[in-house]
Amino acid sequence: MMCGLEIHVQLETESKLFCECKTNYKEAPANTNICPICLNQPGAKPYPTNEKAIKNALMISLMLNCKIEQNQAYFMRKHYDYPDLSSGYQRTSIPIGYEGELNGIRIREIHMEEDPGQYKPDRGTVDFNRSGIPLIEIVTEPDIKSPEEARNFLKELIRVLQYSKGARGEGTMRADVNVSINGGNRVEMKNINSIKGAFKALKFEVVRQKNLTKRGIEIKQETRAYLETQMITVSMRDKENADDYRFIPDPDLPPMQISDKQINDIIEIMPETPYNKAKRFEKQYGIDKESAKVLTSEIDLADTYENVVKEISPEFAALWMKDELKRVLTYNKIDLVESEITSQDLIELFNLLENKKITTKAGQRIIEKMPNEEKTPKVLAEELGLIGVVEEDGIVKAAKQAIDENPKAVEDYNNGQKNSINFLMGQVMRLTRGKADPGETVKILNDLLK
Ligand SMILES: [Zn+2]
Repeated sequence: MMCGLEIHVQLETESKLFCECKTNYKEAPANTNICPICLNQPGAKPYPTNEKAIKNALMISLMLNCKIEQNQAYFMRKHYDYPDLSSGYQRTSIPIGYEGELNGIRIREIHMEEDPGQYKPDRGTVDFNRSGIPLIEIVTEPDIKSPEEARNFLKELIRVLQYSKGARGEGTMRADVNVSINGGNRVEMKNINSIKGAFKALKFEVVRQKNLTKRGIEIKQETRAYLETQMITVSMRDKENADDYRFIPDPDLPPMQISDKQINDIIEIMPETPYNKAKRFEKQYGIDKESAKVLTSEIDLADTYENVVKEISPEFAALWMKDELKRVLTYNKIDLVESEITSQDLIELFNLLENKKITTKAGQRIIEKMPNEEKTPKVLAEELGLIGVVEEDGIVKAAKQAIDENPKAVEDYNNGQKNSINFLMGQVMRLTRGKADPGETVKILNDLLK
């Protein structure tokens, strides 16, 4: 399989690319964030290109290791007829960044575009609030060899975009996926709007092309639509050529000049990429590769970790944040920001654990209660009666009692049913009200049973 991606994402700006209309198109009533410029009414001239949009596009290009077109990054008019495009052309820049790389996949180019409006064919209405919102299109070389690789690349790309704070992330993503097998004709799938969608569309399309090839049918070069609900692709139209778009330079916009200073200023404030951050975490905090990867999977998680390790041992914090915190967030289907769990909360909890004021088991119970909870971990621990750890003597005593009271479990254990120790362990936990350390308890039970 050979696959290349064209990924559109909206840039994070207050106003549109060539006018002062706001970009909060989702909240605003239909056709209220509009003006003669973004409706392309006759005689309306664009303002100079939004500087924030240029800056964001440059930063993303640099974070994706691209070279920058400094001398004549101009806008072209790309012509096509569709109800979402009032002018009949879309302004699209020549590549601003080119020859980049991410995850071993080469990036051919990154250019800026204006978003068209939103046409709803079933109702026959168009909402132009979105018209003129700045986009970037990121185009890869056809280096992707499997649906899994496409998924990994997109995940990493979304992470970089989040880190850059210059783009709006997966929620605004639209990807076109080009795929061919065994050097056959290339099929383009349009308007896939999630990582999962891209993965499933590719899986389907590869099977479809393989089946056609097996039956000796040549694969047609065409554009297909991916139908999310049915998880299939259907033919849309035969592929148009670049000629069909009748590209011409936009005479209303001067070419953008990008100075060395502009680039250096961006490099100065550019966030570390997730990849580099993970590398640094491994080295600086002495944690393993897997932990570093998980902890840098969200910028907020990474920032929080760096706050926490000012007071907590890095390995201990990594273990708890990677396993327990992540588990709780995944279970609740929220990210760290939505959970309202702060660095301070985690420091308080980890202090209780590190100073053996509570057991691991108690810590797990507390962290489960922490999302969107106003009480601090310490207050939670007190309210739940979890403060205090039973010392070894206490565990031995409870273990002996559990063994005495449950001869059947002991017999099962002696007959080779080793997992009956879990039952005895539950009894010890009950007797110590969850304040015995599980690791120690298992050891003591094993010794006593022997
Ligand atoms: Zn406008």
